[in-house]
Amino acid sequence: MFLQGKRALVTGSTSGIGLAIARALHGEGAEVILNGFGDESEIATLCEELGGAAHFGADLTDVAAVEAMMADAGPIDILVNNAGVQHVSPVEDFPVDKWNLIIALNLTAAFHTTRLAVPGMKAKGWGRIINTASAHSKVASPFKSAYNASKHGIAGFTKTIALELAEHGVTANCISPGYVWTPLIEGQIPDTMKARGLSREEVINDVLLVKQATKKFVQPEEVGALAAFLCRDEAQNVNGANWSVDGGWTAE
Ligand code: NAD
Repeated sequence: MFLQGKRALVTGSTSGIGLAIARALHGEGAEVILNGFGDESEIATLCEELGGAAHFGADLTDVAAVEAMMADAGPIDILVNNAGVQHVSPVEDFPVDKWNLIIALNLTAAFHTTRLAVPGMKAKGWGRIINTASAHSKVASPFKSAYNASKHGIAGFTKTIALELAEHGVTANCISPGYVWTPLIEGQIPDTMKARGLSREEVINDVLLVKQATKKFVQPEEVGALAAFLCRDEAQNVNGANWSVDGGWTAE
């Protein structure tokens, strides 16, 4: 229980990878604060499961909502910028509103939460910032222009703040999963079928898993376990790194 006494805000933690990270941090004794959308009663059940966790339904593409959430949440020891969305489309047809949404949520929201959490971390001389990037922060795939741009962007942002905060006991790292079976992946299958003219099975086997050398989806709990490790004192010199959890995809 090495995170007892620590407070962790995990964005996009009502589902998928963020929820697994929240569970892993809570499992090590952290007080977790949830963020994300979803059914109210299901979120209430999650909050109960996670030791009476607070939940903020802030839309992170709205800067005023982020500022209100950070003020209400109070000092944060561990900030996990995880909320993200995807859209799959050829660049010439890429809807402008989808581009703006993806950059605002996957990249700009992390800037706002970070700038608001850092003064408290510096004051305590301890902090952990973990950004859920993606294999797409290292390599690209076609038809994901906004997503790839946002994830390459968060990787650069993470390295920058790692350097700025290194002498304050605060580390900043990315975790970069390959394909993890979550609603985000399920949601992109129909658009990928359309963009590439493939069946559902072909998208799963010939587009998604073709890159992952293990030919298996990553489990959200594996990402949660790595996030918990990055919060350990033994990880104090892991800083500015971009950890792949992609079954070997980006080794090629
Ligand atoms: P998910 O769809 O299961 O969860 C996304 C979460 O973000 C949900 O809690 C949702 O409510 C929240 N969210 C969406 N829009 C929001 C907004 N405007 N404001 C606040 N919260 C919002 O997705 P996931 O697969 O768990 O993805 C989580 C992160 O992991 C994303 O950043 C994604 O890019 C990244 N990632 C996912 C995969 C994968 O294969 N699933 C791979 C690499 C990286």
